[in-house]
Amino acid sequence: MTDQTNRFLEIAAPGIANLKPYVPGKPISELERELGITDSVKLASNENPLGCSENAKAAMQGELSDSARYPDGGGFELSKALAAKHGVDAGCITLGNGSNDVLDMIARVFLSPGYESLFSQHAFAVYPISSQAVGVTLKIAPAVNYGHDLEAMLNMVGEKTRVVWVANPNNPTGTWLNGEELENFIAAIPQNVIVVVDEAYIEYVDEEDYPDASQWLSKYPNLIVTRTFSKAYGLASLRVGYGLSHPDIADLLNRVRQPFNVNSMAQAAALAALEDQDFIQSSIDMNRAGMEQLVTGFAEMGLSYIPSVGNFVTVDVGRPVEEVGQALLREGCIGRPVANYGLPNHLRITVGLEEENARFLSAMKKVLDK
Ligand SMILES: *Cc1c(COP(=O)(O)O)cnc(C)c1O
Repeated sequence: MTDQTNRFLEIAAPGIANLKPYVPGKPISELERELGITDSVKLASNENPLGCSENAKAAMQGELSDSARYPDGGGFELSKALAAKHGVDAGCITLGNGSNDVLDMIARVFLSPGYESLFSQHAFAVYPISSQAVGVTLKIAPAVNYGHDLEAMLNMVGEKTRVVWVANPNNPTGTWLNGEELENFIAAIPQNVIVVVDEAYIEYVDEEDYPDASQWLSKYPNLIVTRTFSKAYGLASLRVGYGLSHPDIADLLNRVRQPFNVNSMAQAAALAALEDQDFIQSSIDMNRAGMEQLVTGFAEMGLSYIPSVGNFVTVDVGRPVEEVGQALLREGCIGRPVANYGLPNHLRITVGLEEENARFLSAMKKVLDK
Protein backbone atom coordinates (compact mmCIF):
# COMPACT_ATOMS: atom_id res chain seq x y z
CA MET A 1 0.00 0.00 0.00
CA THR A 2 1.46 3.37 -0.97
CA ASP A 3 1.12 6.43 1.19
CA GLN A 4 -1.38 8.04 -1.17
CA THR A 5 -3.82 5.18 -0.76
CA ASN A 6 -3.48 4.79 2.98
CA ARG A 7 -6.63 6.29 4.39
CA PHE A 8 -5.26 6.58 7.91
CA LEU A 9 -2.09 8.41 7.02
CA GLU A 10 -3.58 11.77 7.90
CA ILE A 11 -4.03 10.79 11.49
CA ALA A 12 -0.65 9.04 11.84
CA ALA A 13 2.06 10.76 13.88
CA PRO A 14 4.42 13.09 11.99
CA GLY A 15 7.33 11.14 10.53
CA ILE A 16 5.34 7.98 9.81
CA ALA A 17 4.46 9.10 6.27
CA ASN A 18 8.08 9.02 5.14
CA LEU A 19 8.92 5.84 6.97
CA LYS A 20 9.74 2.69 5.03
CA PRO A 21 9.67 -0.61 6.88
CA TYR A 22 12.99 -2.34 7.65
CA VAL A 23 13.78 -4.89 4.94
CA PRO A 24 14.96 -8.13 6.55
CA GLY A 25 16.97 -10.86 4.84
CA LYS A 26 14.70 -13.29 3.04
CA PRO A 27 13.91 -16.27 5.28
CA ILE A 28 15.14 -19.65 3.95
CA SER A 29 11.64 -21.13 4.31
CA GLU A 30 10.16 -18.40 2.10
CA LEU A 31 12.68 -18.91 -0.70
CA GLU A 32 12.33 -22.68 -0.60
CA ARG A 33 8.55 -22.39 -0.71
CA GLU A 34 8.78 -20.09 -3.73
CA LEU A 35 11.33 -22.16 -5.66
CA GLY A 36 10.31 -25.61 -4.46
CA ILE A 37 13.91 -26.33 -3.42
CA THR A 38 15.35 -27.59 -0.15
CA ASP A 39 19.06 -26.86 -0.02
CA SER A 40 19.33 -23.08 -0.09
CA VAL A 41 22.03 -21.10 1.69
CA LYS A 42 21.24 -17.91 3.59
CA LEU A 43 24.11 -15.52 4.10
CA ALA A 44 21.92 -12.47 4.42
CA SER A 45 21.44 -11.48 8.05
CA ASN A 46 24.86 -11.72 9.73
CA GLU A 47 23.75 -14.70 11.78
CA ASN A 48 26.25 -17.11 13.30
CA PRO A 49 26.49 -20.17 11.02
CA LEU A 50 27.65 -22.28 13.97
CA GLY A 51 24.39 -21.66 15.80
CA CYS A 52 24.81 -20.96 19.50
CA SER A 53 26.45 -22.42 22.58
CA GLU A 54 25.14 -25.83 23.70
CA ASN A 55 24.93 -24.37 27.20
CA ALA A 56 22.56 -21.70 25.91
CA LYS A 57 20.33 -24.37 24.36
CA ALA A 58 20.22 -26.27 27.64
CA ALA A 59 19.35 -23.07 29.49
CA MET A 60 16.45 -22.43 27.07
CA GLN A 61 15.16 -25.96 27.63
CA GLY A 62 15.33 -25.36 31.34
CA GLU A 63 12.92 -22.44 31.04
CA LEU A 64 10.22 -24.32 29.13
CA SER A 65 8.40 -25.60 32.21
CA ASP A 66 7.99 -22.05 33.52
CA SER A 67 6.51 -20.68 30.31
CA ALA A 68 3.29 -19.65 32.02
CA ARG A 69 5.17 -17.21 34.24
CA TYR A 70 6.19 -13.71 33.27
CA PRO A 71 9.95 -13.28 32.99
CA ASP A 72 11.97 -11.39 35.58
CA GLY A 73 11.10 -7.90 34.35
CA GLY A 74 14.28 -6.43 35.76
CA GLY A 75 16.50 -9.16 34.31
CA PHE A 76 18.37 -9.35 37.60
CA GLU A 77 20.77 -12.25 36.91
CA LEU A 78 21.60 -11.21 33.36
CA SER A 79 22.14 -7.56 34.29
CA LYS A 80 24.38 -8.63 37.15
CA ALA A 81 26.49 -10.81 34.85
CA LEU A 82 26.74 -8.06 32.24
CA ALA A 83 27.70 -5.50 34.86
CA ALA A 84 30.47 -7.83 36.06
CA LYS A 85 31.66 -8.42 32.49
CA HIS A 86 31.98 -4.70 31.85
CA GLY A 87 33.12 -3.68 35.32
CA VAL A 88 30.16 -1.34 35.82
CA ASP A 89 27.25 -1.09 38.22
CA ALA A 90 24.09 -3.05 37.30
CA GLY A 91 22.34 0.34 37.19
CA CYS A 92 24.29 1.07 33.99
CA ILE A 93 22.60 -1.77 32.06
CA THR A 94 19.41 -1.47 30.00
CA LEU A 95 18.18 -4.79 28.62
CA GLY A 96 16.57 -4.82 25.20
CA ASN A 97 14.52 -7.12 23.02
CA GLY A 98 17.54 -7.17 20.75
CA SER A 99 19.78 -4.12 20.78
CA ASN A 100 17.39 -2.53 18.27
CA ASP A 101 14.95 -2.23 21.14
CA VAL A 102 17.54 -0.20 23.07
CA LEU A 103 18.17 1.99 20.01
CA ASP A 104 14.44 2.60 19.81
CA MET A 105 14.26 3.50 23.52
CA ILE A 106 17.07 6.01 22.99
CA ALA A 107 15.08 7.64 20.18
CA ARG A 108 11.91 7.79 22.27
CA VAL A 109 13.67 9.27 25.27
CA PHE A 110 15.90 11.84 23.60
CA LEU A 111 14.36 12.72 20.24
CA SER A 112 11.27 14.75 19.41
CA PRO A 113 10.06 17.06 16.62
CA GLY A 114 12.14 20.19 16.24
CA TYR A 115 15.37 18.39 17.17
CA GLU A 116 17.97 16.54 15.09
CA SER A 117 19.27 12.98 14.91
CA LEU A 118 22.71 12.67 13.28
CA PHE A 119 24.29 9.64 11.63
CA SER A 120 26.42 8.72 8.64
CA GLN A 121 25.52 7.85 5.08
CA HIS A 122 25.46 4.02 4.71
CA ALA A 123 24.88 3.65 8.46
CA PHE A 124 22.67 0.97 10.03
CA ALA A 125 19.01 1.29 9.00
CA VAL A 126 17.52 1.32 12.48
CA TYR A 127 18.93 4.80 13.26
CA PRO A 128 16.76 6.51 10.63
CA ILE A 129 13.75 4.26 11.30
CA SER A 130 13.68 4.89 15.06
CA SER A 131 14.44 8.59 14.53
CA GLN A 132 11.79 9.16 11.89
CA ALA A 133 9.19 7.35 13.94
CA VAL A 134 9.45 10.05 16.60
CA GLY A 135 9.30 12.89 14.05
CA VAL A 136 12.82 14.24 14.56
CA THR A 137 14.84 15.83 11.73
CA LEU A 138 17.42 13.50 10.15
CA LYS A 139 20.95 14.80 9.53
CA ILE A 140 23.06 12.51 7.36
CA ALA A 141 26.80 13.11 7.15
CA PRO A 142 28.50 12.04 3.91
CA ALA A 143 30.66 8.93 4.28
CA VAL A 144 34.37 8.73 3.51
CA ASN A 145 35.64 5.48 1.93
CA TYR A 146 32.23 4.00 2.82
CA GLY A 147 32.86 4.65 6.53
CA HIS A 148 32.04 7.34 9.07
CA ASP A 149 33.63 10.74 8.42
CA LEU A 150 33.86 11.86 12.05
CA GLU A 151 35.03 15.34 11.13
CA ALA A 152 32.05 15.86 8.85
CA MET A 153 29.77 14.49 11.56
CA LEU A 154 31.24 16.78 14.20
CA ASN A 155 30.74 19.77 11.92
CA MET A 156 27.07 18.87 11.62
CA VAL A 157 26.43 18.84 15.37
CA GLY A 158 24.34 21.89 16.16
CA GLU A 159 22.16 23.32 18.91
CA LYS A 160 19.26 21.12 17.88
CA THR A 161 21.26 17.89 17.81
CA ARG A 162 20.19 15.48 20.52
CA VAL A 163 21.57 12.07 19.43
CA VAL A 164 24.58 11.08 17.31
CA TRP A 165 24.74 7.44 16.21
CA VAL A 166 28.00 5.65 15.37
CA ALA A 167 28.21 1.98 14.44
CA ASN A 168 31.66 0.53 15.11
CA PRO A 169 32.08 -1.50 13.01
CA ASN A 170 29.33 -0.28 10.72
CA ASN A 171 26.77 -2.49 9.03
CA PRO A 172 26.48 -2.87 6.01
CA THR A 173 29.98 -1.60 5.19
CA GLY A 174 32.12 -3.38 7.80
CA THR A 175 34.20 -0.21 8.21
CA TRP A 176 35.58 0.68 11.63
CA LEU A 177 37.04 3.51 13.70
CA ASN A 178 40.14 3.31 15.87
CA GLY A 179 40.28 4.23 19.54
CA GLU A 180 42.01 7.54 19.12
CA GLU A 181 39.72 8.95 16.46
CA LEU A 182 36.57 7.70 18.16
CA GLU A 183 37.50 8.97 21.60
CA ASN A 184 38.53 12.38 20.24
CA PHE A 185 35.15 12.56 18.54
CA ILE A 186 33.21 11.65 21.68
CA ALA A 187 35.25 14.15 23.71
CA ALA A 188 34.40 16.91 21.22
CA ILE A 189 30.63 16.29 21.37
CA PRO A 190 28.81 18.61 23.81
CA GLN A 191 27.69 16.84 27.00
CA ASN A 192 24.03 17.55 26.31
CA VAL A 193 24.19 15.49 23.10
CA ILE A 194 23.88 11.71 23.41
CA VAL A 195 26.53 9.68 21.56
CA VAL A 196 25.53 6.11 20.77
CA VAL A 197 28.30 3.67 19.89
CA ASP A 198 26.74 0.51 18.47
CA GLU A 199 29.10 -2.44 18.95
CA ALA A 200 26.98 -5.25 17.52
CA TYR A 201 30.03 -6.95 15.94
CA ILE A 202 32.72 -6.21 18.52
CA GLU A 203 33.48 -9.88 19.21
CA TYR A 204 34.66 -10.38 15.63
CA VAL A 205 36.98 -7.40 15.42
CA ASP A 206 40.65 -8.31 15.54
CA GLU A 207 42.43 -4.96 15.12
CA GLU A 208 44.92 -3.77 17.68
CA ASP A 209 43.65 -0.20 17.91
CA TYR A 210 39.95 -1.07 17.78
CA PRO A 211 38.34 0.31 20.95
CA ASP A 212 35.82 -1.15 23.37
CA ALA A 213 33.90 2.08 23.95
CA SER A 214 32.44 0.79 27.22
CA GLN A 215 35.81 1.59 28.86
CA TRP A 216 34.98 5.30 28.40
CA LEU A 217 31.61 5.27 30.16
CA SER A 218 32.87 6.90 33.35
CA LYS A 219 34.62 9.64 31.38
CA TYR A 220 31.70 10.57 29.11
CA PRO A 221 28.32 10.55 30.87
CA ASN A 222 26.56 11.27 27.54
CA LEU A 223 27.85 8.00 26.00
CA ILE A 224 25.66 4.94 25.38
CA VAL A 225 27.23 1.71 24.13
CA THR A 226 24.99 -1.01 22.70
CA ARG A 227 25.76 -4.73 22.42
CA THR A 228 23.84 -7.72 21.19
CA PHE A 229 23.56 -11.49 21.57
CA SER A 230 22.28 -11.76 17.98
CA LYS A 231 25.58 -11.94 16.14
CA ALA A 232 28.63 -13.77 17.59
CA TYR A 233 26.55 -15.30 20.41
CA GLY A 234 24.18 -16.79 17.83
CA LEU A 235 20.94 -15.93 19.64
CA ALA A 236 19.27 -13.73 16.97
CA SER A 237 15.89 -15.46 17.23
CA LEU A 238 15.64 -14.86 20.98
CA ARG A 239 16.00 -11.07 20.69
CA VAL A 240 18.34 -9.95 23.42
CA GLY A 241 20.76 -7.04 23.56
CA TYR A 242 21.65 -4.28 26.00
CA GLY A 243 22.78 -0.74 26.50
CA LEU A 244 25.62 0.41 28.76
CA SER A 245 25.45 3.98 29.99
CA HIS A 246 25.54 6.36 32.92
CA PRO A 247 22.87 5.22 35.43
CA ASP A 248 20.91 8.46 34.88
CA ILE A 249 20.57 7.58 31.19
CA ALA A 250 19.68 3.96 32.01
CA ASP A 251 17.04 5.32 34.39
CA LEU A 252 15.39 7.26 31.53
CA LEU A 253 15.63 4.36 29.09
CA ASN A 254 14.05 2.06 31.64
CA ARG A 255 11.09 4.44 31.95
CA VAL A 256 10.09 3.75 28.34
CA ARG A 257 11.18 0.10 28.28
CA GLN A 258 8.21 -2.22 27.88
CA PRO A 259 7.64 -4.43 30.90
CA PHE A 260 9.07 -7.92 30.35
CA ASN A 261 10.74 -6.91 27.07
CA VAL A 262 13.30 -9.72 27.38
CA ASN A 263 11.69 -13.14 27.74
CA SER A 264 12.83 -15.84 30.15
CA MET A 265 14.43 -18.09 27.56
CA ALA A 266 16.39 -15.19 26.17
CA GLN A 267 17.60 -14.15 29.62
CA ALA A 268 18.65 -17.68 30.55
CA ALA A 269 20.30 -18.36 27.18
CA ALA A 270 22.19 -15.07 27.21
CA LEU A 271 23.46 -15.75 30.71
CA ALA A 272 24.69 -19.23 29.73
CA ALA A 273 26.13 -17.96 26.44
CA LEU A 274 28.19 -15.32 28.23
CA GLU A 275 29.95 -18.05 30.16
CA ASP A 276 30.83 -20.08 27.07
CA GLN A 277 33.67 -18.04 25.65
CA ASP A 278 35.05 -21.15 23.90
CA PHE A 279 32.05 -21.01 21.59
CA ILE A 280 32.78 -17.35 20.84
CA GLN A 281 36.41 -18.20 20.11
CA SER A 282 35.42 -20.94 17.63
CA SER A 283 33.02 -18.52 15.98
CA ILE A 284 35.78 -15.95 15.62
CA ASP A 285 38.20 -18.53 14.20
CA MET A 286 35.65 -19.80 11.72
CA ASN A 287 34.80 -16.24 10.72
CA ARG A 288 38.43 -15.35 10.06
CA ALA A 289 38.90 -18.35 7.76
CA GLY A 290 35.57 -17.78 6.02
CA MET A 291 36.29 -14.10 5.44
CA GLU A 292 39.58 -15.05 3.82
CA GLN A 293 37.81 -17.59 1.63
CA LEU A 294 35.20 -15.05 0.48
CA VAL A 295 37.56 -12.17 -0.27
CA THR A 296 39.97 -14.49 -2.07
CA GLY A 297 37.03 -15.63 -4.20
CA PHE A 298 36.02 -12.03 -4.94
CA ALA A 299 39.59 -11.16 -5.93
CA GLU A 300 39.68 -14.15 -8.30
CA MET A 301 36.52 -12.84 -9.95
CA GLY A 302 38.02 -9.36 -10.17
CA LEU A 303 35.37 -7.92 -7.84
CA SER A 304 36.23 -5.18 -5.39
CA TYR A 305 34.84 -5.28 -1.88
CA ILE A 306 34.79 -3.07 1.20
CA PRO A 307 37.34 -4.46 3.67
CA SER A 308 35.33 -5.57 6.70
CA VAL A 309 36.16 -6.37 10.32
CA GLY A 310 32.74 -7.92 10.98
CA ASN A 311 31.16 -11.28 10.08
CA PHE A 312 30.03 -10.02 6.67
CA VAL A 313 31.56 -8.41 3.64
CA THR A 314 30.02 -6.09 1.07
CA VAL A 315 31.09 -6.64 -2.50
CA ASP A 316 30.69 -4.47 -5.59
CA VAL A 317 28.99 -6.65 -8.20
CA GLY A 318 29.51 -4.03 -10.88
CA ARG A 319 25.88 -3.83 -11.94
CA PRO A 320 22.49 -3.15 -10.34
CA VAL A 321 22.44 -5.47 -7.36
CA GLU A 322 18.71 -6.14 -7.33
CA GLU A 323 18.93 -8.31 -10.45
CA VAL A 324 22.08 -10.03 -9.22
CA GLY A 325 20.38 -10.73 -5.90
CA GLN A 326 17.36 -12.18 -7.72
CA ALA A 327 19.56 -14.35 -9.95
CA LEU A 328 21.39 -15.64 -6.86
CA LEU A 329 18.05 -16.51 -5.26
CA ARG A 330 17.32 -18.72 -8.26
CA GLU A 331 20.59 -20.51 -7.44
CA GLY A 332 19.33 -20.99 -3.88
CA CYS A 333 21.67 -18.34 -2.46
CA ILE A 334 20.29 -15.56 -0.28
CA GLY A 335 22.55 -12.51 0.07
CA ARG A 336 21.58 -8.99 1.00
CA PRO A 337 21.42 -6.35 -1.74
CA VAL A 338 22.14 -3.04 -0.05
CA ALA A 339 20.81 -0.56 -2.63
CA ASN A 340 18.54 0.79 0.14
CA TYR A 341 21.72 1.85 1.98
CA GLY A 342 22.80 4.02 -0.94
CA LEU A 343 24.98 1.24 -2.40
CA PRO A 344 23.14 0.29 -5.62
CA ASN A 345 25.80 -2.14 -6.91
CA HIS A 346 26.73 -3.78 -3.62
CA LEU A 347 25.76 -7.11 -2.15
CA ARG A 348 26.39 -7.86 1.52
CA ILE A 349 27.34 -11.45 2.25
CA THR A 350 27.53 -12.94 5.73
CA VAL A 351 30.52 -15.18 6.36
CA GLY A 352 29.12 -18.71 6.45
CA LEU A 353 30.48 -22.22 6.87
CA GLU A 354 33.19 -23.22 4.41
CA GLU A 355 30.78 -25.14 2.17
CA GLU A 356 28.23 -22.30 2.26
CA ASN A 357 30.84 -19.76 1.23
CA ALA A 358 32.00 -22.05 -1.57
CA ARG A 359 28.44 -22.54 -2.78
CA PHE A 360 27.84 -18.80 -2.74
CA LEU A 361 31.04 -18.02 -4.61
CA SER A 362 30.27 -20.52 -7.37
CA ALA A 363 26.72 -19.16 -7.71
CA MET A 364 28.20 -15.67 -8.03
CA LYS A 365 30.64 -16.88 -10.69
CA LYS A 366 27.75 -18.32 -12.66
CA VAL A 367 25.41 -15.35 -12.24
CA LEU A 368 28.08 -12.75 -12.97
CA ASP A 369 29.58 -14.89 -15.73
CA LYS A 370 33.10 -14.62 -14.24
C1 LIG B 1 22.43 -6.65 13.78
C2 LIG B 1 22.70 -5.26 14.27
C3 LIG B 1 22.17 -4.77 15.45
C4 LIG B 1 21.32 -5.51 16.37
O1 LIG B 1 20.40 -6.30 16.21
P1 LIG B 1 19.56 -6.96 17.38
O2 LIG B 1 19.30 -8.30 16.85
O3 LIG B 1 18.36 -6.09 17.52
O4 LIG B 1 20.39 -6.95 18.62
C5 LIG B 1 22.50 -3.51 15.88
N1 LIG B 1 23.32 -2.75 15.18
C6 LIG B 1 23.87 -3.17 14.04
C7 LIG B 1 24.81 -2.29 13.34
C8 LIG B 1 23.56 -4.43 13.54
O5 LIG B 1 24.08 -4.82 12.39
